[in-house]
Amino acid sequence: RRLAAYVSRLPGAESAGAVMVLHDITDLRRLERLRQDFVANVSHELKTPLAVIQSNIEALQDGAAEDPQARGPFLERVKHEADRLDALIQDLLRLAKIESGEQPFELGRVPLDAAIAECLERQATRAEAKSMALIEVPPKNAPKGVAAFADEDAMEAILDNLVDNAIKYTPSGGKITVRWTATDRHVQIEVEDTGIGISEADLSRVFERFYRADRARNRAAGGTGLGLAIVKHLVQSLHGQVTVASQLGKGTTFKVTLPRAA
Ligand code: ADP
Repeated sequence: RRLAAYVSRLPGAESAGAVMVLHDITDLRRLERLRQDFVANVSHELKTPLAVIQSNIEALQDGAAEDPQARGPFLERVKHEADRLDALIQDLLRLAKIESGEQPFELGRVPLDAAIAECLERQATRAEAKSMALIEVPPKNAPKGVAAFADEDAMEAILDNLVDNAIKYTPSGGKITVRWTATDRHVQIEVEDTGIGISEADLSRVFERFYRADRARNRAAGGTGLGLAIVKHLVQSLHGQVTVASQLGKGTTFKVTLPRAA
């Protein structure tokens, strides 16, 4: 504001140059606020499991360790929260690496059919546990060997994150469909679920780090809150796009578009 007052007194203050200076300041402020939010979020997300670990260890030290019946659940909770911390730190490092451009990508042909089938195989046990159907739908008369021009590990992480979420946020008995299509230059993968959906207000924010549509419940669901941020950054690094459409109570569809390999 001080700068704005100063600029407004300059001769020709209404010139485009003066306007641009103000825009830069606004962007800087926004970036600074995002950075502060991020640091606050990281601290909170790291401290929460740590506090649970500490209190459970204290309980063990106060005598629970001597009681064979009580010991088990305390140790279980310590293990669970330690695993959570581990997942969180791994995701944070992964995100930092992708963002800084340090993540090496090996770009090449990644055949869609195989990539999707392998992902669904990895997730089959979890889907079965919730009596869910996991279906791959190739386009009608799909040409053989259609491939994305991408990195195999990145593709695996993108698909795993989206299908993992679809299973997590869909009640038992639901259905997850992974469709794909191709044009001359692009391939598109859709992950559709029949789950709880995302409200319109939350929709534009789900790709933000640590944003959860239902904070308490979705944190309890076990994710790190970083999955979709990782997906977005990976897709962007591969020169693609990811979008989401959803209807509360009906289901959600994520669409990933990537360059097609020759
Ligand atoms: P989390 O670890 O919490 O799952 P993500 O970054 O993967 O973090 O997702 C962010 C939030 O987006 C989730 O907490 C959830 O509220 C919402 N979300 C993601 N995928 C789905 C889905 N398929 N259906 C409904 N909500 C979803």
